[in-house]
Amino acid sequence: MAIIVLPEEVIARIAAGEAVERPASAVKELIENAIDAGASSVHVESMAGGRQLIRVSDNGAGIPGLEIELAFKRHATSKLRATEDLEDLSTLGFRGEALASIAAVSQTTIITRHRDDPMGISLRLNGGQIDHQRPIGAPAGTVVAVENLFFNTPARLKFLKADRTEKRNIQAVVTRYAMAYPHIAFTLKQDQREQFRSSGRGDLADVVAGVFGHAHFKRMIAIESSSPARLARATIAVRGYASLPDLTRSDRSRIVLFVNGRAIQDNALSHAVTQAYEGMIKSGTFPFAVLLISLPTDFVDVNVHPTKAQVRFRDPSQVFSAVQRAVRQALLEADLDEDNADHWRAAGFTNETIDYRTPSPPFAGTAKEDFFHDADLGTIPEAADAPAKPRTLPILRVIGQIGAMYIVAEGPVGLYLIDQNAAHERILYEQMCEEQRAGSPLAEPVSDSQTVLLSPEHDIVLGDCAEILSELGFEIEPFGPHTYVFRALPSVIASARLADGFPGILDQLSRTDKGTEEATAAVAAAAAVKSGQILSLEEMQTLVAQLERCPSPFASPSGNTTLIRLTREQLALEFRRA
Ligand code: ADP
Ligand code: MG
Repeated sequence: MAIIVLPEEVIARIAAGEAVERPASAVKELIENAIDAGASSVHVESMAGGRQLIRVSDNGAGIPGLEIELAFKRHATSKLRATEDLEDLSTLGFRGEALASIAAVSQTTIITRHRDDPMGISLRLNGGQIDHQRPIGAPAGTVVAVENLFFNTPARLKFLKADRTEKRNIQAVVTRYAMAYPHIAFTLKQDQREQFRSSGRGDLADVVAGVFGHAHFKRMIAIESSSPARLARATIAVRGYASLPDLTRSDRSRIVLFVNGRAIQDNALSHAVTQAYEGMIKSGTFPFAVLLISLPTDFVDVNVHPTKAQVRFRDPSQVFSAVQRAVRQALLEADLDEDNADHWRAAGFTNETIDYRTPSPPFAGTAKEDFFHDADLGTIPEAADAPAKPRTLPILRVIGQIGAMYIVAEGPVGLYLIDQNAAHERILYEQMCEEQRAGSPLAEPVSDSQTVLLSPEHDIVLGDCAEILSELGFEIEPFGPHTYVFRALPSVIASARLADGFPGILDQLSRTDKGTEEATAAVAAAAAVKSGQILSLEEMQTLVAQLERCPSPFASPSGNTTLIRLTREQLALEFRRA
């Protein structure tokens, strides 16, 4: 075939496919236009997942009658004049493509009246061609009705998902913009049913609670931070809400990010959010977060993706670390802060007043002797003398043990199941980290010498890791071929029997880059109480009391869940009394 320049309408349809992939992308473009037009209220309606009808009405500035035809031409925009403007965009749109693209693949009717015009205008297009237009009386603002989307692009139509999925996508778009623009009142009606409404009163908390539901929102904390940007007199501000570590999902779909008011998908940035939870949530689970990131417009290039869903940062690492720091900081403060008490209370811990500052009753003022009796505390170190650290869990009353693996406890909202191994791993890890931070003498001589026989490979790893192990408090001496004796152990685990677990530590160290943190986690894992070990009531109480004050009590350093909570409501539901 010879080369030809494609006719305008073919070009339009090809371009349409880029900007309008699915009904939800049309909804997104129309909402962005309404926002750019300064609307304070935006109504979205759809029928049959947007295939049959999408209608977006706004009370924004409207389009002047004389410009209405132009608005549907490709590359026709009122938002951009020259290339330089791309550097400094304050509008969501700039390509002048959306209306043309949407109209090219549907039957579109627009009714609009510019606020300075006495009369409105109605224009109908069929597959991009103007059908008719006429003056019409209308309030200031714009209504765009898109019918039979993709009617003339059967291939695209075939690839649409079930109505249900498209409805969900539309809902996600509307709720996202409602969260990014709390000052705008949004409504969403699908198949004649109202699905969502925001007040437009400007309260982000209100909107987020409306989107995620109050029960979830109560388990989210406010993020509010601004950090100075390097190399410029500017700031990167991050604000919004993020979930406490006990509220997660198995996918990233609840991490909602906006950059300068633009909903974006950025894997690296959502990874930054997830990283802020490191050590607090299980790997493969993801938090809930709504983060509005603002930075100077010339720090972001928004012109990199057809649907504008991706942006390019001038200095990505700076933005990622600002986001990660903002979330991490808020999580740590929530853990330590007394406000957390309010949070727990808000989350349903209402029947008991919890004093978050005093140690929990079983140990407060208890003499060491009273507490220790004759019980063999095995590998669980004592905590009675430890200064009261801030409480991160409510007071839990130990009831017993199941399967020599899980501790059953009662708390203010219901039943708690604690994985003894994962929990103890977390406790030891944090105790060791604390000692390292405090610079206290880490090595404690062991009274009954333990020897360990190593495989030749482990023997080599031991040689490689001698330095880091001694940093942690190990003193190990050769005691024969491939045999070693422990002279001293990290004080936190001084009473542990490590001979069996030691090769496991070496395995870990040979896999990772042998940083102190990894090494500490490996030691904690090796020294922790094992599943299958029967614990006395006192041992369990000690363990639980220590967990109650771990800064990150919900997961072990290796990411295993330490704690499951069954609320009274859940129990009632199970017993069909809800
Ligand atoms: P862009 O938003 O990139 O400019 P669009 O094709 O989405 O391109 O819109 C073309 C133009 O039509 C806009 O620049 C704007 O002037 C006008 N327009 C579109 N929708 C609206 C609306 N809801 N209210 C007011 N003006 C609008
Ligand atoms: Mg637009």
